[in-house]
Amino acid sequence: ATPTALLVGTGRGAQLGIVIKGPEVLESTRAVDTVVLDKTGTVTTGRMSLLEVLGDPAALRLAAAVEAASEHPIARAVVAGHPDPLPEVTGFVAEAGHGVRGTVEGHRVRVGRAAAPAELAGAVSAAEAAGRTAVAVEVDGAVRAVLVVADTVRPTSRAAVAELRSLGLAPVLVTGDAAGPAAAVAREVGLDPDAGEVVSGVLPEGKVDVVRDLQARGRVVAVVGDGVNDAAALATADLGLAMGTGTDVAIEAGDVTLVRADLAAAADAVRLARRTLSTIK
Ligand code: ADP
Ligand code: MG
Repeated sequence: ATPTALLVGTGRGAQLGIVIKGPEVLESTRAVDTVVLDKTGTVTTGRMSLLEVLGDPAALRLAAAVEAASEHPIARAVVAGHPDPLPEVTGFVAEAGHGVRGTVEGHRVRVGRAAAPAELAGAVSAAEAAGRTAVAVEVDGAVRAVLVVADTVRPTSRAAVAELRSLGLAPVLVTGDAAGPAAAVAREVGLDPDAGEVVSGVLPEGKVDVVRDLQARGRVVAVVGDGVNDAAALATADLGLAMGTGTDVAIEAGDVTLVRADLAAAADAVRLARRTLSTIK
């Protein structure tokens, strides 16, 4: 490979808002045949809003107090949903892919994944079937409320998925979110949950397992992600593409930063790399 051609490739990348860590990254895109897509903040904008509080409305204040210490899109939605002054939290802990916890006014408060109590189960399934994310608020060990938050699919994601397919990449949506919202978002962007194109309920370590599993089956895997929970998968991937709006750890773990927070930039990156390499050959 001539260094000049590679540098032209990276220069053109900069124009497209694709920042490549080193020219050698272009080489790893040559054989990529599978693309793992994170949902929240990657396929969707990750700008969530709080739609509904199911159960005890007073639980929102406690939940928002704990979420105030978190950067997660769900946390931002919950805090914005309770704009009044919030009580202090002590002993704050964020568990990636699970949720957050802390002590507020003497109560142990946890916000995150948990089974909905029987009386809320129907409302939770309806919200999830509509593509919404539901998180439970536990106070002193008992679920007191379920918060329903909504995200928005990026307007360009559907066309980008089609483009990734046309480049010969098999797309898979891999998310920590529940099956309902995962399938709803998948269908919106042209992915088929019934054809194995969606893996939901995955913990951050699980995202790495999905990548390794695909690699073990001979696939050459790109990962597109933005979150703390995507960092390990981005590092394990043959090609890690981090959204420029993402967290610093994700950007550090990736080989490529997509400055335009747009899935179409992932397709551009693959096309650019292939074109640059064919110029060299
Ligand atoms: P994704 O893979 O879609 O980016 P995450 O791994 O960040 O999702 O989160 C997976 C799940 O963990 C969320 O759907 C939610 O149930 C829970 N969760 C993670 N962080 C938080 C938080 N700060 N507040 C509430 N729930 C959270
Ligand atoms: Mg994400």
